[in-house]
Amino acid sequence: MTEKIIIIGSGPAGLTAAIYTSRADLKPLMIEGYQAGGQLMLTTDVENYPGFPTGIMGPEMMDLFRKQAERFGTRFITKNVTRVDFSKQPFQVFIGDKKEESEAIIISTGASAKLIGLKNEKRLMGKGVTTCATCDGAFFRNMEVAIVGGGDSSMEEALFLTKFATKVTVVHRRHELRASKIMQDRAFANKKIQFIWDTTVEDVLGEKEVTGLRIKNVKTGQTSDLKVAGLFVAIGHTPNTQLFKGQLEMDENGYLITHDGTKTNIPGVFACGDVQDHVYRQAITAAGSGCMAAIDAERVLAHS
Ligand code: NAP
Repeated sequence: MTEKIIIIGSGPAGLTAAIYTSRADLKPLMIEGYQAGGQLMLTTDVENYPGFPTGIMGPEMMDLFRKQAERFGTRFITKNVTRVDFSKQPFQVFIGDKKEESEAIIISTGASAKLIGLKNEKRLMGKGVTTCATCDGAFFRNMEVAIVGGGDSSMEEALFLTKFATKVTVVHRRHELRASKIMQDRAFANKKIQFIWDTTVEDVLGEKEVTGLRIKNVKTGQTSDLKVAGLFVAIGHTPNTQLFKGQLEMDENGYLITHDGTKTNIPGVFACGDVQDHVYRQAITAAGSGCMAAIDAERVLAHS
């Protein structure tokens, strides 16, 4: 059977596209992935999504999005797409050996947190190394932690971590922050936050859990050890676009390029959410672009 619409990815963008396309009676098939729900599954309180004046937990919000999509007939496959072929109609989407075909595709595979790339960073992931302060901050009550990165995410997380940690050390590779002025001011004003400039993390120390970092001053070349119980990595995100390499146009960082709303370079293939947006990266903007993708897809299908 050829589907009308397959949606790949199940964060706020994909689930909003599912709500709109299912209400338009296009009976979307969503391939939600093993780790369904996207980045909001890694957050706690969402306080800036309109309609929730007292806030809502990220996973609970995604559950509500999913139920709403299901209510109008969205079908879900809780597996990962392993390959796609968009070279001809109908488009082909593979989940292992299983092939699904569709007249239109909406891509909402999002982005994932970047890692520094150290062997021990991976090994100690979840044992003191984390990419999500809001998820894991509370585990570091009365401890000293470090955070890597000089952007808004890093400042936001450093400030959040001061609720729990006794001291938060920002380790940044340059001598100035990339973060916006307001975030910088807030971080500089917080006495629990310290900065180590011009410094990279060379290794994460600890056998069973993080006990410290080996850091290196890039100006002097000098290495030293910093005693911390946690390392928060906040150095940006990578779009999840590996599947589409060679088929869809991407910018130099791998984000899908969209034009006229959510259209990719292949007519009938649309992209929404963080996979095509490295600027706003909010649940509300992702949801908004998911709605746009659904409307764009509906219009194309109406003329096919
Ligand atoms: P970002 O702005 O790209 O900042 C990444 C930071 O990590 C930079 O300071 C960068 O250093 C550093 N970095 C990158 N790779 C590194 C590596 N391998 N080793 C060490 N350091 C590394 O990313 P972001 O902070 O996640 O923010 C992304 C976007 O979301 C931005 O547009 C931001 O404004 C927005 N955002 C806004 C808010 C808010 O307004 N509340 C909150 C979060 C995010 P360099 O500076 O040297 O390049």
